[in-house]
Amino acid sequence: MEKQPSWKVIIGMEVHVQPKTESKMFCECKNDPFCKDPNIHTCPVCMALPGSLPVANEKAIEEIIKLGVALNSKIASYSCFARKSYFYPDLPKGYQISQYDKPFCQGGELSVNGKKIKITRIHLEEDAGKNFHPKGTDYTLVDLNRAGVPLIELVTEPDIESAEEAKLFCQELQLVLRYLKISDADMEKGQMRCEANISLVPKGTLEKDKLSGTKVEVKNLNSFKAVERSIEFEIKRQSRILERGEKVVAETRGWSEGKQGTVSQRSKEEASEYRYFPEPDLPPILVDPKDVEKLRDNLPELPQEFRKRLRDEYKLAPSAIEAFTCDKNLGNYFEEAGSELRAWWEDTSKEKFSKDIYQLLANYLITEIKKYLSVSKTDIKDLLVTPENLAELIVMLYENKINSSAAQTILAKMLEKGSDPDQIAKELDLLQISDNSALTEIVEKVLSNNPQAIEDLKSGKEQILQYLIGQVMKETRGKANPKVVDDMIREKIFGK
Ligand SMILES: [Zn+2]
Repeated sequence: MEKQPSWKVIIGMEVHVQPKTESKMFCECKNDPFCKDPNIHTCPVCMALPGSLPVANEKAIEEIIKLGVALNSKIASYSCFARKSYFYPDLPKGYQISQYDKPFCQGGELSVNGKKIKITRIHLEEDAGKNFHPKGTDYTLVDLNRAGVPLIELVTEPDIESAEEAKLFCQELQLVLRYLKISDADMEKGQMRCEANISLVPKGTLEKDKLSGTKVEVKNLNSFKAVERSIEFEIKRQSRILERGEKVVAETRGWSEGKQGTVSQRSKEEASEYRYFPEPDLPPILVDPKDVEKLRDNLPELPQEFRKRLRDEYKLAPSAIEAFTCDKNLGNYFEEAGSELRAWWEDTSKEKFSKDIYQLLANYLITEIKKYLSVSKTDIKDLLVTPENLAELIVMLYENKINSSAAQTILAKMLEKGSDPDQIAKELDLLQISDNSALTEIVEKVLSNNPQAIEDLKSGKEQILQYLIGQVMKETRGKANPKVVDDMIREKIFGK
């Protein structure tokens, strides 16, 4: 049995995001860090040639403020850039332009599973280039396509208490960035990079003393799985050290995918070692509160609001809500088909709008359509099935005009050809017989052939009914609507 953990886990996250602006942060070079040809998108500014001067990218500033507004941060009306000095071969200036004591956004929060994770700050900086070590050689090449690309850095308060919570935080932040169209935030591509600061204190430590443990920073987390596994690993590693009565070393560690563990990289620098000072080549940035309000008014719907709407308006099950929130394109498709269902319902003036028809639609989208998209590697915008046609298919199923196996057959044809479900049903002769007059003769024949079954049914053996329905289904080659047949037999035998 696993020993009960006697440590309280304290985690703060640092997340870097590449906003998808047209140009780099301080020059007009194209923001294309994944360009295959090295050093194509460079100029005197991002190559740090003497005498070149940076100019801040207005769009990048707008994007960071948008993020701050979405996360309820306080937007600074006065902020400035700062030089952070350190030497890397892929950082030709010998310093990075970042922000220090006057970031664009301070405070804020992001809810994860109902818990608010507080945000310390969000600031803007530039990325470094990339070093390459060609296989089989003993030298390193430098590619500066990425040098000077804008980076948004978000730092949380040490509010996170488990590896899973850290992963959920990063996933939720990725959704927010995508909903705001700031970045695709693809971790595999390095568009979003996470670092975790982890420390342990004895369980029962007072809230005010929770930072008394020794902080270890873990870098190189380029997947959600790596975020979760590296933190799990660190919690185990640190608790073993502490249980032996030893001290955890304050250091930066890197996650090694191959070793499935963290390895020591270097001891942690203090802020003073970076020798921050205000960037003399860039003026302070004054943000007009009116512009902030304009951004606030034009914010798109955020994941949390979309979840709430899927729950309140469509009464979907939690798993469907998550599926549509995490895949907004699928969610949008659901809403388009859903509005067709609503229009149909209003037209047919049914007494009561039963919302389970939305769940039926959701089930088909999440299972059949999603499976098709992934197997055929099709983008949802190239899907041949229109939301209108999918809604029509769901209505046919809901009204028992077709059974569920026919619906599968029809949908397969729709995915292949994009035609109208009603037409396919007619062509393939899949429409159920729901018309009493068309079924009367067959029902009567089945009943007259089974006098014993009728006696049994009358004496209370309900299960005989299924047998009789089965006989009618057989006679109609599976096309009779079982619900209608059920009603007809009951009426003939019990007169109701
Ligand atoms: Zn440039």
